Amino acid sequence: MTEWYHEDEVCWVADCEVCDVPMVVWREHGPTPPDEAVEHMVARLTEVADWRFGEGKWSLDRVMRQIPDHFHAHARDPDWWYRRFSR
Ligand SMILES: [Zn+2]
Repeated sequence: MTEWYHEDEVCWVADCEVCDVPMVVWREHGPTPPDEAVEHMVARLTEVADWRFGEGKWSLDRVMRQIPDHFHAHARDPDWWYRRFSR
């Protein structure tokens, strides 16, 4: 079951099934949301990641490997890679 954290008119935040870390995904399609949408999404992701990993214990990953043409960002803690292969 994928954990679902947040949903609003701009974006949703849920666990990435591949990485097992929270990920924010823009509702609209495209690689470059307006600045205020990016700010909004990073803020929502920050709330979730701070709650799950602790403040300052994760980093924002905006590299769009999985869906290159659709804006999304991961919150990665230092152990995510290890966890991915130990499941
Ligand atoms: Zn992922």
